Amino acid sequence: MLVFKFGGASVKDAKAIRNVSNILNDYKEEKIIVVFSAMGKTTNLLEKINLSIYNKNESEFKQLIKELKAFHSLILNDLFKDSAHPIHQVVESKIQKLYGLFDQLSSENHSLNYSKIVSYGEIISTIIICSYLESKNISAQWLDARSVIITDEKHEDTKILWKETIKSYLKNISDVFLTKNIIITQGFIGKNERNETTTLGREGSDFSAAIFAYCGDAKEVIIWKDVPGMLNADPKYFENTVKLDSISYREALELSYYGASVIHPKTIKPLHNKQIPLYIKSFLNPKEEGTTIQGSKEKDALIPSFIFKHNQILFSIKPKDFSFLVEENLSDIFDRLARVNAKINVMQNSALSFSILLDRKKINLEKILSLFKDDYTIRYNEGLELVTIRHYDQKTVDFVTKGKRNILEQKTRQTIRIVLKPNH
Ligand code: ASP
Repeated sequence: MLVFKFGGASVKDAKAIRNVSNILNDYKEEKIIVVFSAMGKTTNLLEKINLSIYNKNESEFKQLIKELKAFHSLILNDLFKDSAHPIHQVVESKIQKLYGLFDQLSSENHSLNYSKIVSYGEIISTIIICSYLESKNISAQWLDARSVIITDEKHEDTKILWKETIKSYLKNISDVFLTKNIIITQGFIGKNERNETTTLGREGSDFSAAIFAYCGDAKEVIIWKDVPGMLNADPKYFENTVKLDSISYREALELSYYGASVIHPKTIKPLHNKQIPLYIKSFLNPKEEGTTIQGSKEKDALIPSFIFKHNQILFSIKPKDFSFLVEENLSDIFDRLARVNAKINVMQNSALSFSILLDRKKINLEKILSLFKDDYTIRYNEGLELVTIRHYDQKTVDFVTKGKRNILEQKTRQTIRIVLKPNH
């Protein structure tokens, strides 16, 4: 059995979906679980819909639903020219259900509502794609991922309950392969033991693919992307990127942990645990080699890889009473940060000051300042960049720091991380 994952960009319009269908046609003889994301940027739109419900802004809600409907109708009308095809009605009824949620959801359990609403993106994309494949004589079975992926209580960024998930995998999947070769399912979503929809965190569909692969002892996983494989830098910022042909699980984990956006960091562990190889391939050139991620470390140390994070904010936190930073007040600082779910990109301390670097877009600045104002003095520096270089050398360091002020630097033998202030 193989597991494929197609992200939002690979199903962003009718042409892209036809391309996915051609790729699947090339694997006709295989048993495959195919995990899909929502189409294009649908999840962002659904997050706005969720916010409009939270803010009780009905006119905005209606406008956003209209946008969602128009986007999917464009794709549907292109793929299914016959307006009497039942898929039009099926999608319409899903959108009507979503529409009804404005009056049904109380704004109390924000996180439960969030998962319920954003899951519509993946549900709608998979019913359209499955129906399209059938129309092309590719026999596929639609599967609700929530019947397999069982999570803990938390609704967002939730944890997998592995024992329960393996059990429901065996119950719900094995028989399907007796009659069908392809199972179409959703990434990103699961359910908890109270039968409520939960989500695995943004970009979590890669992780879903790894969960299915782990449970079914897959032969391999292919994540289909709009890039030729894992590159040593983001082609948006670098002209001369190099494809990493083959890297180890460990290297892939390090790169994704530091922020390489090609794969979600949680994807690697389940695959490593069962030694299932992961291939990153281009859906634009499906015959090309791509990147292989597997156990061997042989080729790891060859090329410097760069990961940039823009729009960073550096906080420096000092105890007001001039006390040393020791375990006690450090744990107090962590405790306060955990309360606002702050994700630290870099941290460093001196005798009197603790510095943390955070993504400016992911925090509420006022909240963080007020969180510390009783016992600490807190200062911040905005508009920074964080660059991480794996397998660095002086030449690459000089190249990325040129014309920028070095604010903070951390080095190990293999990785350097530098916080930079661009000179304007
Ligand atoms: N659709 C979700 C997102 O945009 C999950 C995913 O695509 O991986 O984050």
